[in-house]
Amino acid sequence: MFKRLTILFLVLGLLTACQSAVQVEDKPQIMVSLFPQYDIIRQIAQDKVDVELFLPVGSEPHNYEPSASTLMKIMEADLFIYSSDELEPWVNQLVEGNASDDLIVLDASNGITLLEADHGHEEEEEEEVELDPHYWLDPLNMIIMSESILNALIEIDPENEGFYRDNAKSYISSLNELDAKWLDLFEHARLNQIIYGGHFAFGYLSNRFGLDILSPYSGYAPDAEPSAQALAGLMDVLAEKEINVIFYEELIDPRVARIIAEQAKVKIEVLHGAHNLNSEEMQAGWTYISIMEDNIAKLKEALRYE
Ligand SMILES: [Zn+2]
Repeated sequence: MFKRLTILFLVLGLLTACQSAVQVEDKPQIMVSLFPQYDIIRQIAQDKVDVELFLPVGSEPHNYEPSASTLMKIMEADLFIYSSDELEPWVNQLVEGNASDDLIVLDASNGITLLEADHGHEEEEEEEVELDPHYWLDPLNMIIMSESILNALIEIDPENEGFYRDNAKSYISSLNELDAKWLDLFEHARLNQIIYGGHFAFGYLSNRFGLDILSPYSGYAPDAEPSAQALAGLMDVLAEKEINVIFYEELIDPRVARIIAEQAKVKIEVLHGAHNLNSEEMQAGWTYISIMEDNIAKLKEALRYE
């Protein structure tokens, strides 16, 4: 009896050993803070990695701070990708503090020139220069990011280098096609102005394509309330121009856009900044590219594409 038990324990012990061996060989663990970077990893690495977007589904990132348990998971991961020091100032402390030597940290804005903030309001002279964190809205910056993320994937998982390179190549060509669609939109648009009842997220599109965005908000973070004066100014613009839609931002109740639209008797539509998805969008498998194609279709109508 004793012998049999010993054998049984040995077998069980072996099974456990096998299981933990499998776990050791498990896929690379990646933690990522923002949807566009998460989507790039999904496109390039597919099922070869375990990737977690830790910004909760449906949350906007501007005021987000990770919980202690999320910080633990970041520190135990193989690769941590964040958007920029502008959007995630908490990262510096993390990196200087407790992260293990094995953790690779990638600032996804590496190699990208961030634009200076242009809120449309007068800057006070001694104010520090603020940078616009929404660089992913220019597809050319998505391409730069895809290349940095490809290199990081190869570093943590060199065995699958060929697979990653092939997928990155085809994803980058889809981003180039998307960029051509943006160019085509603005080449054939009769108008170049939209009213946007959200925080200032589309500066990179304005900068590249000359899109003029009128917003009652004056900052980046979607927590400030627009002034009555700013709202009245927009109503004047609406009365003068042939604008027939007010855009609002994803993830936030479009209360301000609705107020303007009701008064001006125009419709409201979301213009999606791709910060994050809500749960329906996540379940429906939305991607950065599908979001932008939807934005382009709405802007074609709003800007009288001909
Ligand atoms: Zn934003």
